Amino acid sequence: MNRWKTIVEPFRIHSVEPAHFSTVEERTAWLEEAGHNLFNLRADRVLIDLLTDSGTGAMSRDQWAAIQQGDESYAGSPSWYRFLAAVQNLFPFEHVIPTHQGRAAEKILFSVIGGPGKVIPNNTHFDTTRANVEFTGAEAVDLVIAEGKRPELEHPFKGNMDVVALEELILARGAQNIPVVFVTITNNSGGGQPVSLANLRAVRAVCDKYDLPLFLDGCRFAENAWFIHEREEGQQDRSIVDIVRDIGALADGMTMSAKKDGMANIGGWLAMNDDALAVQCRNMLILTEGFPTYGGLAGRDLEAIAQGLAEVVDPNYLRYRIRSTAYLADALSAAGVPVVRPAGGHAVYLDARSLLSHIPPLQYPGQALATALYLQGGIRGCEIGTVMFGRQPDGSEIPAAMDLVRLAIPRRTYTQSHIDYVIEVVTWVAERASELKGMRIVDEPPALRHFTARFGPL
Ligand SMILES: *Cc1c(COP(=O)(O)O)cnc(C)c1O
Repeated sequence: MNRWKTIVEPFRIHSVEPAHFSTVEERTAWLEEAGHNLFNLRADRVLIDLLTDSGTGAMSRDQWAAIQQGDESYAGSPSWYRFLAAVQNLFPFEHVIPTHQGRAAEKILFSVIGGPGKVIPNNTHFDTTRANVEFTGAEAVDLVIAEGKRPELEHPFKGNMDVVALEELILARGAQNIPVVFVTITNNSGGGQPVSLANLRAVRAVCDKYDLPLFLDGCRFAENAWFIHEREEGQQDRSIVDIVRDIGALADGMTMSAKKDGMANIGGWLAMNDDALAVQCRNMLILTEGFPTYGGLAGRDLEAIAQGLAEVVDPNYLRYRIRSTAYLADALSAAGVPVVRPAGGHAVYLDARSLLSHIPPLQYPGQALATALYLQGGIRGCEIGTVMFGRQPDGSEIPAAMDLVRLAIPRRTYTQSHIDYVIEVVTWVAERASELKGMRIVDEPPALRHFTARFGPL
């Protein structure tokens, strides 16, 4: 191996876009205009945009070149066959159904298998997954291991599912009411934490015992595979592709957002082995997305994803990716800022409930912290807490399990000096945390309120 400790970005910059500088005074006015909701901001009023890693990464030279090969034939485009081969190289599911993004795959799947009385377990449902399950009248249940709910605790696989709780749920609710068991890799809403192969095998065993299908929410499969490579016994000498194939072989299907580990700006898929289910899903696809050989995508998008899937399993890329996230988390920890430990794959999660312990959860400490980071430094993060998860289907409001602010790192987009600036701003705000005040919601929609709600300071 290499004797040098510095992990060099595994790319050179080929094309650049300007950063947008502004003053605290300007941002104060813009924040007011946006109803204190960072989703309502114009992106050119943000300096460092860590709202999401979804579709916001830089594409490679080879992806842009692949886009030129895009064939826009309505049916049977060569771009579709390249996409299909790239997906099945990693996940050899029988049926691959392209969609315009991950939530479209979820919408199609749950509208076929969900419905009132049904229960869908997951380690932790992502917000769109939960919303799509609940929209059908089904119940979304989170079964992450207890360690996964303790932000400060170090554990190599905090995304693991509690298999004892899974079996209890199956016995309590009846296997016939559980159309599928989901596992999200990595566990986005639980801190971007990975799931081990051993845990996936244990979940598979429970599914086999009760004859239930297991699906992956595979958005960050490559990052999860890298964590397995680094942390799970006996995996160090295996290739990332082999680990990914092992993960896929344990499942009966998957949903995927290609805006994450597809390394593309748009796209997704739904895949499965069940022929009858695939027929129903394809019918729904034609109704809502498009013909089965393009789904909601242009041929050029299919090309960008096919090339992205080849790049994302490169160990040099994954080593840099995971290390650059850990760099931010380690620096913040060293400065005394409470963050979810260990660092997730795609994001660092600030523990706003702990940092702003003077603000009760129903006054949204995560929102207060996220807006303060924007105001002081032009940095846009995302509340993942009571704003996102507090409103219950029956209309009541309860505190979420954690109140976090997610700083998601777009792929191959920001350099180390951008991240050093983030460290400086977050540390400055954290040192003055006691001056921050809680917030109230002035206006909210019936579902997924975090995207459009308007807030006022208390
Ligand atoms: C992003 C994401 C989704 C939804 O994908 P979109 O492409 O945003 O619709 C689903 N699950 C997880 C874990 C995600 O991170």
